[in-house]
Amino acid sequence: MKLANYDGRAVLVQDGAAYDVEHVSNGRFGPDTAAVLRDWEEFTAAASTFSLEQGVDIDPSLLGPPVAAPRQIFAIGLNYRDHAKETGMQAPDEPVVFTKFQSSIAGPAAEVQLPSDFVDWEAELVVVVGKEARNVSADQGWDHVAGLTAGQDYSERNVQKRGASPQFSLAKSFANFSPTGPLLVTPDEFPDRDAIGLSTTIVNGSGEQVMQKGSSADLIFDVPTLVAKLSEVLTLFPGDLIFTGTPAGVGIGRDPKVFLQRGWTVVTEIEGIGQMRNVLV
Ligand code: ZN
Repeated sequence: MKLANYDGRAVLVQDGAAYDVEHVSNGRFGPDTAAVLRDWEEFTAAASTFSLEQGVDIDPSLLGPPVAAPRQIFAIGLNYRDHAKETGMQAPDEPVVFTKFQSSIAGPAAEVQLPSDFVDWEAELVVVVGKEARNVSADQGWDHVAGLTAGQDYSERNVQKRGASPQFSLAKSFANFSPTGPLLVTPDEFPDRDAIGLSTTIVNGSGEQVMQKGSSADLIFDVPTLVAKLSEVLTLFPGDLIFTGTPAGVGIGRDPKVFLQRGWTVVTEIEGIGQMRNVLV
């Protein structure tokens, strides 16, 4: 099943068309994705009975973030060995957890205003929680996941280094620094939910350049392990997001370093989920 936030309303997506959840469920579910996620188990059980009628062709500019106001947003640092290595850090023994503050959430077509000349990219697979989780073991981790979406973890590298210890949360929370989308895709839709390809491509006056190309098969702490580790400490709620970390190929890992520039477009693509295109202004 593929869901989206279309102009503020939850829609099912099939063959490029959007079907309003509130309409196709005769008012039982919706109207927005937060409401659908709160009733996730009932919704998924009922979804096969919906008759998909009166679909509309999707206008990508109307797609919003699959969860517009997540209660909690977790992000994981250094969760791919090749990325840890390119930043000169050791691969961690425990997940490195920080947050991206809620005000940084944006849709898949959002413009991103660069606050400085030190902004970097990080393509990430993003988990959307579908069922409350508290002390969940890793072998039950996937049962608490509604679906997956694409995310960019835009990062201001100077702010990140300001202060006595890394300020990941602050540096990654400027306005629109957390675009997600375009779709929320349930785990059963993937040929292998533990091996999903992700990439970042930069489009500018010199053409297109693929900067990152990885697979979630290389995560140090995979999706169910992250659900288990986080739920050991706190409760995960429906609609919470987990940015799972980025593979190699970020700007600061390059020689010379590369930072984003106004006028460029960042294309984030995840297999089975689609593309986000963010223009930098
Ligand atoms: Zn990241």
